[in-house]
Amino acid sequence: MAILIDGKATSKAVREEIKQNTEEFFAKTGVRPGLAVVIVGEDPASQIYVRNKHKACEEVGFASSIYALPAETTQAELDELVEKLNRDPAVHGILVQLPLPKHLDAGEILLRIDPDKDVDAFHPVNVGKLMIGSYSFCPCTPAGIIVLLKRHGIEIAGKRCVVIGRSNIVGKPMAILLLQENGTVTVCHSRTQDLASVTREADILVSSVGKAKFVTADMVKPGAVVIDVGMNRDEEGKLCGDVDFAAVEPIASAITPVPGGVGPMTITMLLANTLEAAKKAAGIA
Ligand code: NAP
Repeated sequence: MAILIDGKATSKAVREEIKQNTEEFFAKTGVRPGLAVVIVGEDPASQIYVRNKHKACEEVGFASSIYALPAETTQAELDELVEKLNRDPAVHGILVQLPLPKHLDAGEILLRIDPDKDVDAFHPVNVGKLMIGSYSFCPCTPAGIIVLLKRHGIEIAGKRCVVIGRSNIVGKPMAILLLQENGTVTVCHSRTQDLASVTREADILVSSVGKAKFVTADMVKPGAVVIDVGMNRDEEGKLCGDVDFAAVEPIASAITPVPGGVGPMTITMLLANTLEAAKKAAGIA
């Protein structure tokens, strides 16, 4: 039986620490870390994510504001709002909820966000800082996975780490962070040949593909740590990850469930990044 890597409990503990640090920061500076979340249009999933982020901010004592813009907002209007938030000293983190409506250029908007307020860490400046290991914040999902591994006593240094998926928000930064933790890292993708033979070498296997039951038992080395980033729906419409949990759990040494694994850590790391940005702005980072 694998140890269940409990994202909910870890997330709760980290948020408690953030709340305490926020109160200390407020006592010292009189400033509340401020997160501005911009949402354009009415995508129902995005609306839920934004509400959850707002609630999480309130719970740890941040000042959070939501800028809900109509779907027909122009690029110029969105640019103008981001520029205004860049100049606002009460705003320490800016997050533009993706996806944006098709007529808007997400890449262009991300470039406009002040890198010091880019708490999603998607700006090329922050991507570059991550590459050279000199960063204040890094993308929330991979950062949350590193915290999960560390807080469950899982050693990364010297381990064979295999990441399936090479997206800019999960796979690539995950690989860089594991490398920085001295793992020996391989990144797989849709063109990888004989994927199972590569994944079977992993002491730590991270799957970020986005396909239900993609990782089967024959792809996992007995005793491996399995981290499931996927957020998919099964045939019954239930939330599930990439990993065939029932088949893989008996052979893994530790595994994240979906839901309740990686997911809860993502917003928690957004809070951590926002607090970090506020400290940096106050000159005490
Ligand atoms: P993405 O941009 O679609 O990337 C998927 C990656 O999987 C790509 O690199 C793709 O390879 C690779 N892939 C697809 N089919 C494959 C195959 N047959 N064999 C090997 N690799 C294959 O997705 P993403 O944004 O990284 O997200 C991945 C999953 O994580 C999704 O389910 C998403 O919902 C979830 N997610 C969860 C959280 C969270 O907080 N829990 C956060 C972000 C994302 P190519 O590059 O060759 O196409």
